[in-house]
Amino acid sequence: MATITINKDNFCHNLNQIALKTGSIDKVAIVLKDNAYGHGLEIMAQLASELGIQHAVVKNRDEADVIRGLFRTVLILGGQAVPDETCSYAINTLDDIEKAQKGARVELKVDTGMHRNGIAIDELDRALERIADRELVLFGLMTHFRSSDELGSEFFWQKKQFESVKTKVKAAGFTGFRMHSHNSAAILRSNYFEEDLVRVGIGAYGYNELPESFDKAELKPVLSLYAGKIATKRLKKGDRVGYGGDFEVPCDMQVSTYDLGYGDGWCRGDSSQPYLTAEGLPVLGRVSMDFVSIASHKEVLCIMNDAQSAAKQFGTISYEITTALSPLITRSVV
Ligand SMILES: *Cc1c(COP(=O)(O)O)cnc(C)c1O
Repeated sequence: MATITINKDNFCHNLNQIALKTGSIDKVAIVLKDNAYGHGLEIMAQLASELGIQHAVVKNRDEADVIRGLFRTVLILGGQAVPDETCSYAINTLDDIEKAQKGARVELKVDTGMHRNGIAIDELDRALERIADRELVLFGLMTHFRSSDELGSEFFWQKKQFESVKTKVKAAGFTGFRMHSHNSAAILRSNYFEEDLVRVGIGAYGYNELPESFDKAELKPVLSLYAGKIATKRLKKGDRVGYGGDFEVPCDMQVSTYDLGYGDGWCRGDSSQPYLTAEGLPVLGRVSMDFVSIASHKEVLCIMNDAQSAAKQFGTISYEITTALSPLITRSVV
């Protein structure tokens, strides 16, 4: 069986690195959306809670219901806002305000330049008016940066936009709401922090996606992926392995199949540019739905222990590698 291990010490280390930036663990909200970036929603929620994290961010109500007992607040990024003692709801459009139920706690997301979700700055007055009319609780004010992981001035421009939004909301008479804008890259590049919360995902899982030119906090990958051996073959020079026979055996060798494939969310990649496992072994030929072939006879192989290096090999980002991993793979804490 392919398995995933979650390294508790590394997770703790990463959270501490982030808490050093925020000044306090109380200001760290762990982003657990999409099965905790593929790490396992329940496991990561449990660990985060044990390590003193009091706030979580999830994608929808279903995720929130699994973990709500472990946190003081849970921000749900989408869906109809309903009154709840623990959960608050991001408001992405003016329409979300109209659909919300009286008494719901909402966190108004303002589009300060990313142009994905959130109300436009010129809709702010209208949004605040409707939040008051509909008797919703303004629990938070938030934005999301489009370029926090890039050099250049855009990040600062968006920050400034958000500052003016904060001023306007306060001037409209709202008080007691929390303010947050930073994701992992934003907090990792910042040297001072004065908001109420950071929303960290990828950084907590051990990846710093900032370019080398930034002064980098050392983070440690939390997830490792293992595959178990199914069968071993003795192959002769000229034999070919897997679908299409893409890999031709260069000399007599032992090749084993291991129980991991694209059906488990592992990237199929391109057999002409073989993926190298954590131990430096190339995957031979095409990745099948449930199997890969590797020249080894070990019972268990570590396929990946650093999603960033895997992502480089596949031409993607660490987020996609871990998030794709099937929730059906057994996960355990080490
Ligand atoms: C996913 C997400 C985050 C976390 O981003 P990371 O880059 O993983 O730290 C923060 N805020 C919002 C709104 C998100 O959707």
